[in-house]
Amino acid sequence: MRETSVPAVYSAPDKGNRSAGAAESSRAWLARSLAAVWHPCTQMKQHESLPLVPIARGDGAWLFDFDGRRYLDGVSSWWVNLFGHANPRIRSAIVAQLDELEHVMLAGFTHQPVVELSERLAALAPGNLGHAFYGSDGAAATEIALKMAFHYWKNLGRFSKKTYVSLAGSYHGETLGALAVTDVAIFRDTYAPLLNRNLTVPSPDARGAVGGESARDVAVRAANALEAHLAQHHETIAAFIVEPLVQGAAGMAMHDPHFLTLARELCTRYDVLLIADEIMTGFGRTGTMFACDAAGIAPDLMCLSKGITGGYLPLSCVLSTDAIYAAFYADAPERGFLHSHSYTGNPLACAAALAVLDIFRHDDVLASNEMKAERWTQIASPLAAHPKVRAFRHRGMIWAFEVDTDRNDFARWCFAEGIARELLLRPIGHTVYFMPPYILSDDEFALLCERTREIVDQA
Ligand SMILES: *Cc1c(COP(=O)(O)O)cnc(C)c1O
Repeated sequence: MRETSVPAVYSAPDKGNRSAGAAESSRAWLARSLAAVWHPCTQMKQHESLPLVPIARGDGAWLFDFDGRRYLDGVSSWWVNLFGHANPRIRSAIVAQLDELEHVMLAGFTHQPVVELSERLAALAPGNLGHAFYGSDGAAATEIALKMAFHYWKNLGRFSKKTYVSLAGSYHGETLGALAVTDVAIFRDTYAPLLNRNLTVPSPDARGAVGGESARDVAVRAANALEAHLAQHHETIAAFIVEPLVQGAAGMAMHDPHFLTLARELCTRYDVLLIADEIMTGFGRTGTMFACDAAGIAPDLMCLSKGITGGYLPLSCVLSTDAIYAAFYADAPERGFLHSHSYTGNPLACAAALAVLDIFRHDDVLASNEMKAERWTQIASPLAAHPKVRAFRHRGMIWAFEVDTDRNDFARWCFAEGIARELLLRPIGHTVYFMPPYILSDDEFALLCERTREIVDQA
């Protein structure tokens, strides 16, 4: 195995070396991981040149390796962390639950955390999303929503409604059903022969503006394209699935909330269910509790995961309207939704999610994030003004821009440069984004911007 090394630009700060043998143990973990662990979303051979980063512990917005080097978690550990690593409030909620009940199957049984969480999610969500069905990962929530939508129409005798519509550049997860409504070539193309055919409609991505169009104009144009598809094909369409406001994996493509308002009207008019995939956008990420709130709309099905446990434990959820739930409620077993996962509604994960909701309420997180986002956008202005930065944009607690560079390995290069500067950045193509935990300080955000500017400068 080829030896890997992390370039060191900044030396280790306060929480320095824990033992003389720390450097050895860091290298040892790298080698053992590369031998035994098949890492996600990775061509493993690239780790011959791009080092894995072994993490020993986390604290707040920082991750620490075995050598005492630290990294500012600028992407919330793949968009899941809201209130920092080693958060004492989430931790103590999990520990308290651990003393009562670690798990029980949810078919035929129920428990306090899952009941309370379902009640509170229903109260927070827009509209009448009064029934919560649980999975463990985001993709499982997508599968559940797709199956529910099809089965809903089937229970109503509408047997032809069995395809889905999604946006160009959409990302809804990588299991086969979710991948069939995902439009990211690098994830999809290899498996295309396995995937059901669905329709893709143009994205309302505001960067697509032409000839002096506003973001709202682009939204109207995309809604017109959606309408054309629905008008022609609605008899065969079960649902339109959308990432509201921000298409994350497409490179933080942002659109005007007006698109959601129009999409809601169209789905209602054409008897097509609206599935809001709020797996990334939910729990305050786009400024409001759910992205749908910014448009004042309620979907028929809402997928949640990622931030739901503050990044502590895997949990996902689909909220459905009372009307959808009622269509499954019958004497015939097969009219019921017989889908299941072993860890459905895991009590520890639900306890973490309840702690997260407590933090939102107790700390008035949405209001304080709004003020933070304003300050941070100011702090980012020198970076936004850099001559190599294109299309700098911001929504809630997400900032993104494209870097004007000829490097075709930009994403990997930028990741390595970030690591060398104590930053965890994970660009998508030429798009650099910040999606930090909400607990970042202004100084930490300034450090993130300043060191990113250094990297952009060299790109
Ligand atoms: C991350 C993500 C998913 C998939 O979630 P996993 O937990 O990775 O399976 C689905 N939809 C959106 C919008 C996401 O951001």
